[in-house]
Amino acid sequence: HRESVHVALGGRSYDILIGAGLLEEAGDHISTVAPGAACAIVTDENVARLHLPTLEKSLSKAGVRHKTIIVKPGEGSKSLATFGRVCDEVLAAKIERRDLIVAFGGGVVGDLAGFVAASVRRGSRFVQIPTTLLSQVDSSVGGKTGINSVHGKNLIGAFHQPALVLADVDVLRTLPLREFRAGYAEVVKYGLIGDKRFFEWLEADAEAVFHSRAEQICAVAVSCETKAAIVGRDETEQGDRALLNLGHTFGHAFELLAGYDSERLVHGEGVAIGMACAARFSARLGLCAPQDAERVARHLASVGLPTEIRQIPGWRDDAQAVLAAMYQDKKVEGGALTFILMRGVGEAFIAKSVEPAEALGFLKDEL
Ligand code: NAD
Ligand code: ZN
Repeated sequence: HRESVHVALGGRSYDILIGAGLLEEAGDHISTVAPGAACAIVTDENVARLHLPTLEKSLSKAGVRHKTIIVKPGEGSKSLATFGRVCDEVLAAKIERRDLIVAFGGGVVGDLAGFVAASVRRGSRFVQIPTTLLSQVDSSVGGKTGINSVHGKNLIGAFHQPALVLADVDVLRTLPLREFRAGYAEVVKYGLIGDKRFFEWLEADAEAVFHSRAEQICAVAVSCETKAAIVGRDETEQGDRALLNLGHTFGHAFELLAGYDSERLVHGEGVAIGMACAARFSARLGLCAPQDAERVARHLASVGLPTEIRQIPGWRDDAQAVLAAMYQDKKVEGGALTFILMRGVGEAFIAKSVEPAEALGFLKDEL
């Protein structure tokens, strides 16, 4: 069973292939999109240990010349130092513009290798083989690539679209449960933004999405389609793309206050609490029914995701600190906070005129 999502962005188009067993066939797919090209595979130590042999074997079988560059796992690799090293290693491997850089890993590797591809020889072709649920449903769609600065996350980067994305759900079997759940929060987000039926399907079938490949393929495909459609309407984030930040205005503030310490909070967990907050805040403002807010939290909690700020280990900050952290987020422009709120499940909208005092009152009650 296979799905494919066609993405047309930035004057380019490419396919996301979603299925089981795609890694074994990677060599064939790659030599179809780029006949005769050599590959520089960028991956991290964990993915290399678990899945690199399968990818390398497939490339060798298809006669694709390849060289592997391994980085340390974790956000720390989205740095200028690692970026510089990977660029140099790609160039040392004599990878030409017509060759391919293959991002083989989660969102960290995808963002890093994508930005290397955007930069080396002013733009080289690249293929994404996302290996976390989060990277399959989110970071591999949309063309955002980049690294972190000492001034903040993702502040150095470029838009650069891949030539192909291969999302193999088989590799998700080795993903730690906590990482799987974090990616699942983003899957739920797509339902909450604009697809009530998808959310209802998740409510009924979450168990299957966690354990069965067929449901995973379906969940990844719907998520990619939704993201591609939203990004296609608004590539450079002037309008609709902001909907994808549902749960993120709050979530980023929680991540910041938790010191980006993944022991305390991973991104998807922050987003889960953030979406529950966005729903409760919407109810408090009289925009959506309280039952809808409860329903959102109930579903997230049913898969083991947190939905309350006080569930963050070691949490000590007050409402004022959360509000200040939200203002620090890079998406605050012209001094106004933009919230993504909901009129109901599947009816998110961009709210530009929320009074900070309203948000503060809400956060005080939450804490
Ligand atoms: P990640 O890349 O750090 O992966 C999480 C962990 O899982 C790592 O330790 C990794 O080694 C391990 N791992 C990866 N695949 C595995 C597998 N199949 N089996 C076992 N372990 C595996 O984290 P992530 O959650 O995938 O991505 C987070 C990053 O994505 C952040 O840097 C974020 O900024 C970025 N992001 C980018 C976009 C975008 O549009 N470009 C969107 C969302 C997030
Ligand atoms: Zn996110």
